[in-house]
Order: sequence, then structure tokens, then C-alpha cells
Amino acid sequence: MQTLNNIAAARDWSLLAARILDGAALDKAGALSMLEADDDQIPGLLAGAFEIRRRYFGKTVQLYYLINAKSGLCPEDCRYCSQSRLSKAPVERYAWLSIQEILEGARRAYELKACTYCIVGSGRGPTEHELEHVIAAVKEIKARYPLRICACMGILKPGQAQKLMAAGVQRFNHNLNTSEEFHKEVCTTHAFKDRVATIEEVKKAGISPCCGGIVGMGESREDVVSMAFELKRLGADSIPVNFHIPVPGTPFEDRGNVDPRYALKVLCMFRYVNPDRELRIAGGRELHLRTLQPLGLYPANSIFVSDYLTSKGQSANDDFRMIADLGFEIVGVDGTTAPAEPAFDRSSEAGRVLDALDASDILVSRASAAS
Ligand code: SF4
Repeated sequence: MQTLNNIAAARDWSLLAARILDGAALDKAGALSMLEADDDQIPGLLAGAFEIRRRYFGKTVQLYYLINAKSGLCPEDCRYCSQSRLSKAPVERYAWLSIQEILEGARRAYELKACTYCIVGSGRGPTEHELEHVIAAVKEIKARYPLRICACMGILKPGQAQKLMAAGVQRFNHNLNTSEEFHKEVCTTHAFKDRVATIEEVKKAGISPCCGGIVGMGESREDVVSMAFELKRLGADSIPVNFHIPVPGTPFEDRGNVDPRYALKVLCMFRYVNPDRELRIAGGRELHLRTLQPLGLYPANSIFVSDYLTSKGQSANDDFRMIADLGFEIVGVDGTTAPAEPAFDRSSEAGRVLDALDASDILVSRASAAS
């Protein structure tokens, strides 16, 4: 029988997908060959990736909605981040939003058909007081809305994950961001192993780990492959793939030139390496995939809905239209599916929410900018 590497070298992506669906695992050389493939291999790569996605997720799309519940004021030096101590970007700086404001975000998440509401706070990690604040908000949300709650609060101290779990937090996001080798170029105030330790802590508490990274910070293809395999080793349930947004005023403001076809190859590679995991196209979707965005949903099964951290992205209505045009369906946290209405009835409650979002400068985030 042919090895997976030979199949990858022969560019037989549909056979590779079939073998992966039979339980075979790709190795790093095979994964790298996807990132190095000629652009004319993209249709085949997408077709194979879609076969894998279809086995585990059908034609469903999970929507995530994110609130930037604490902005700026971070002592860390992540060079891509507009909220770091090195950043001169004019981002808003505020301490934790009130419970009422976080609750209001949950209402928006629910109305926009999100299955998961992500509560994100900048900083190295939460104090006990901050943790209790989020816990109080989560309890209120769980009493009102059928949403999965994902918290993203940086590095956790021992015992903090257990408290979040007891409050009803089902998921915790903490991205690896890049490979272990490249991490030192991205950040010096904490180490790659600190990030891994938080993911391990989260798993130990019984919380589902959401863990991904950022592509386009100047790393090599090998770094991207290395990150995909580290996420597999860690058992990340949900993998957000961000494409670096070069925010003016950050040390990495001149990085982030991601070719849209390369972005598709990256998403395919993540799907072949982590076949049954949630794969989300995260920050930078519009900027880097541009008109190829819909193709990204053949390997990926999830996107963030609504805006970026400090600037607007594609409108939620356009996200719904894209999903509907693909013939895909939005799936809720309970597994029920609903058609993505291509054009919202602006007189509906959801339509009013969209109007309000389109007209406002509400600070929401789905970017890679926190923790
Ligand atoms: S990514 Fe998180 S930890 Fe790093 S600087 Fe930004 S807010 Fe701070």
C-alpha cells in the first residue's frame, strides 16, 4: 500500500483524504507538501478537504460571536497585537465591561445565530477579582441564553480553570499563535511553554480547549506545519486560524502579506492534519481571502460573525448570504440546523440588530488580538 507521503507527493488529494478518513495520519512532510503545492492543485486540495469536513460536520457552519470585554492595558509584548505594551495603535483602552454589557453581547450573539459566545479580555491573565466578574456574567448568560461560553483571558493560574468550569464555561481559548521555534520572535514576556501549560490546565479542568494560531507574521511554512501538529498533540477541540492583520502602530505592522491562495492551502492543511476538529477561519478572513472567502468554508466549518476588534469586517448579513449561497446551514449549540437567510428581513429582531451593528461603532472583536 502507498504511504501517505507518496500519495501527497503524487498530489492525489482525494486518495489522501480517503486514507485519512480510514484512520491514517499525515506526517509533517506530507502536510508541508500541501503548502508547497502549485496553485493549480487548489481545487483538488479543497475537494479532499471537503470530503473530510463533510464526514464530521456535514454542510454545517458554526458561528462564533466575540466581545472585547477588556481592551488594551496589556503588559505583554506580543508584537502582532494592537493591545500590547509595545503598540502605538490608537485602540480603545478600558477595564472589564459591566455584567450588563457582557450580557448585552450575549443577546447579540444569540440573535445573530451564534452557537458560541466568546468573552475576551486582554492581559497576561486574570486576577481573582476579574475571574469572579466573568463568572458572575457567565452565570447570568447561562440562565438566559442557550449559548456555549468560551472565555479568553490569557494565562491561567492553578485552580482558575476549575472555577470557570463550575460556572458554566465550556470552552477556553488560548492560542499557540505560532510554532515553538518562531514564538520568541513574536513575544518575549511569556514563553511558548506557558501557553501550552494553560491549555493543559484547561483540559485538566474538563473544559474544551480552543487553540489556534496566526499565519502571516513572517514565519516559515515549516512553522505553520509545526503549529498544526502541536495543536493535534494538545488535542485542541476547536482551531481558529487567524491571518495576520498588520495593524499600524504595532511592531508587526509591515508583516501580513498573505496570498489568498496560500491561505486556502493553509486551511486545507489544517483540515487534513486535524480531520475531526472544529476549524474556524478567524481574524483576517476578508483582508486575506478576499473574494475567495467562500472557498475557505470547504475545509473550515466555522467563522466569526460580525466585526473586528477596532474596524468593521464583512457585515453579518453578507456572512449569512455567503453561507446560503454555498448551500450550507448554520448549526446551533444543540446541533439543530437553520438555513442562513441570504437577506435579512430588516423588520425582524435580527434585522434590527444588524442595522444597529452596521450603524454603530460597537467595539467587538473576532481578531487574533487578545491572549
Ligand atoms: S495577545 Fe493577549 S497577552 Fe499578548 S499583548 Fe495582546 S492582549 Fe496581551
